[in-house]
Amino acid sequence: MGSHGPSGRLAGKNAIITGAAGGIGLETTILFAREGARVLMSDISQPALDRGLAKVLEIVPWCIKPATILCDVTKESEVAAMADLVDTWGGVDVFFNNAGIMHANDADATETSEKVWDLTMAINVKGVWYGSKHAVLSMRRHGKKHGSIINTASVVALVGSATPQLAYTASKGAVLALTRELAIVHAREGFRFNALCPAPLNTPLLQDWLGGDEAKRHRREVHFPTGRFGEAIEQAQAVLFLASDESSFVNGTDFVVDGGMTRCYITPEGPPTEPPK
Ligand code: NAD
Repeated sequence: MGSHGPSGRLAGKNAIITGAAGGIGLETTILFAREGARVLMSDISQPALDRGLAKVLEIVPWCIKPATILCDVTKESEVAAMADLVDTWGGVDVFFNNAGIMHANDADATETSEKVWDLTMAINVKGVWYGSKHAVLSMRRHGKKHGSIINTASVVALVGSATPQLAYTASKGAVLALTRELAIVHAREGFRFNALCPAPLNTPLLQDWLGGDEAKRHRREVHFPTGRFGEAIEQAQAVLFLASDESSFVNGTDFVVDGGMTRCYITPEGPPTEPPK
């Protein structure tokens, strides 16, 4: 599927992906590499990055080999170092601010600790600010007329979560708000900002939340009009579109990839499980 190399949809573009060793980040790295981008994969674990890179090279061995770098997105100096590295390639064209956590001890307003709140905000919000800032600075340093920054939010920023996770929900709401403002402020420079809103996927981040097989089945049937969870690759395909010039007039959006989940009014029976006759 798709083209690759010099004729790919991201040919000639330099891209930074944070949280690149994780579910959505790794699938996006594979698609970006397949479509001709030069990718800098970053995460907080070198072994995880090494495993991720090996998978990329197994699937798209002919790609421009991605570089890897350790980066904790809560540390501005480490985010700036990524942009400095990509400056040596010609500057940042695409920045996917994807690193994020949902803390196991995130809870409701009465139970969430300050520590969990601060850590969640630092990674999920401050990290996105740093990434956006250093993307813009690199693009300016190289006189870029176009650039795309994609920030990972969540459907919980749109509808609120019935499972209490106040810090996570608040952090993802903040991602939408800051993405909108950045989109407006930098529009005349040609730098686009969009927020990706994934529905829950069956990735490591959500294993605790999803529970066992029976719980998973119940959640799938009650919450998802499609009757299935989305796959990380389906998020990556949306990110590829937002990163590419095909989305040149898409700016400031909450780009929802949820199989219709946030459009579904749930009756006691749940959404229909059979097509209408
Ligand atoms: P994941 O846990 O597989 O990947 C997240 C990655 O971020 C991990 O590799 C982790 O090491 C990295 N990371 C954590 N803290 C970091 C830090 N301080 N600095 C840099 N990297 C750090 O999860 P995922 O499902 O791929 O999630 C990616 C993004 O999508 C997150 O922002 C998450 O909140 C969001 N999201 C996920 C889902 C889902 O169901 N998986 C749904 C909605 C939104």
